[in-house]
Amino acid sequence: MSKILVIAEGKDGVLRNVSFEAIAAAKQIDHDAEIVGVVLGKEQLEEQAEQLVHYGADRVIVVQHEELKAYTSEGYGQAVLSIISEEAPDGIVMGHTSIGKDLTPKIATKLDTGLVSDVIEIQQNEGRTEFIRPIYSGKAFERKTITDGITFVTIRPNNIAALEPDTSRNGEITTKDIDIKNIRTIVKEVVRKASEGVDLSEAKVVVAGGRGVKSEGGFKELYELADVLGAAVGASRGACDAGYCDYSLQIGQTGKVVTPDLYIAVGISGAIQHLAGMSHSKVIVAINKDPESNIFAVADYGIVGDLFEVLPLLVEEFKAL
Ligand code: FAD
Repeated sequence: MSKILVIAEGKDGVLRNVSFEAIAAAKQIDHDAEIVGVVLGKEQLEEQAEQLVHYGADRVIVVQHEELKAYTSEGYGQAVLSIISEEAPDGIVMGHTSIGKDLTPKIATKLDTGLVSDVIEIQQNEGRTEFIRPIYSGKAFERKTITDGITFVTIRPNNIAALEPDTSRNGEITTKDIDIKNIRTIVKEVVRKASEGVDLSEAKVVVAGGRGVKSEGGFKELYELADVLGAAVGASRGACDAGYCDYSLQIGQTGKVVTPDLYIAVGISGAIQHLAGMSHSKVIVAINKDPESNIFAVADYGIVGDLFEVLPLLVEEFKAL
C-alpha cells in the first residue's frame, strides 16, 4: 500500500477548503493509499487534525512550534522535510495557493524530485495516473505522468471536489516535536488588506469589477451585490491600475487564479490576461455596455447594458429571493 502526505493549510485557525480537496486528490491518485495529513502551526491544531480525519485522512501528524506561528518557507520547509524523511511517502499533495507555490518547489529541490503544479484534474488511464494542468494562460492543457520518484503535486483550489465529511471517522493523531532552527526570516507584522468577507481564491461566487466601474465609489455597488450573494469581490488589473481597488483583488495572469461556481464580470473587457485567471469558472455572467466586448466570448450569460443600471436591479432581485 502506498502512502500519501497531504500538507494542510490554515488561515486564522481555520483549515482552507483546499486541504480537504487535497485529500480527495490523494485518493484519486491511489484509492488504497494511506493518507497522512500534516498540520503545522503554533497552537490549537487538534480541531484541524480531527477535521482532516473526517474528510478522509487515515492519520494526522501535528507539528506545533513558535516558529510556525506565521508562514516562512524555512520554518515550514524544515518541518515538512523532517516528516518526509521519517515517513518516506510515495506521494505528497498540497494546495496550489500562495504558500503551496512557495513551499513545494523548495521541498522538491531538496528532495531532488519533480513537481507537477496547478493540477485541475486527475485521471486514471491504462494503469497510469495522469495529471491535467492548464498551460499558456489556460489556452491549452497538458497531461503529465510521473514515472519515477515521489508523486508530488499541487492542486488548484475549487477544481477537485472534497469528499463529504464523515464525523464518525477515527484516525490516529500524533504530535511531533521538530527542532526548527536557524530561521533567518522574521515575520514582524502581517498586514491584511481587503480581507473582509469571503476568501477570493476559494470563493464559490466572485463579483469582479473592471475599469468600467469607473471609481472606488463604483466598487461599493459591487460589494453590495457580493454581500447579497455571499460572494468575494475581485477586479481586473485595469481597475487596480486605476486605483479603484487594492491589487490583492486582481484576477488574471499576474493576479489570482479563481475557479468559482459563478463569476460575474462587471465592466471588464475580457483581455486575454484577465481570462487567464477566470475562464475556468463554472458559470460566467458578463455585464458590459459594449456588445462586441471580448468578455462575451467566454460568458455563459451576457447582459448588455450600463452596469450602473443593471447592478441595483440585480441587488434588488437577489434580495427579494
Ligand atoms: P478595459 O479594457 O478598459 O475594459 C473596460 C470595459 O468596461 C469595457 O469593455 C467597456 O465596454 C466596459 N464599460 C465601461 N463603462 C461601462 C458601463 N457603464 N457599463 C457596462 N460596461 C462598461 N489584466 C488583468 O485583468 N489581470 C491580469 O492579471 C493582467 N495581467 C497582465 C499582464 C501583462 C504582462 C499585461 C501586458 C497585461 C495584463 N493585464 C492584466 C491587463 C490587460 O491586458 C487589460 O489591460 C486589463 O485586463 C483591462 O482591464 P478592464 O477590462 O477592466 O479595462
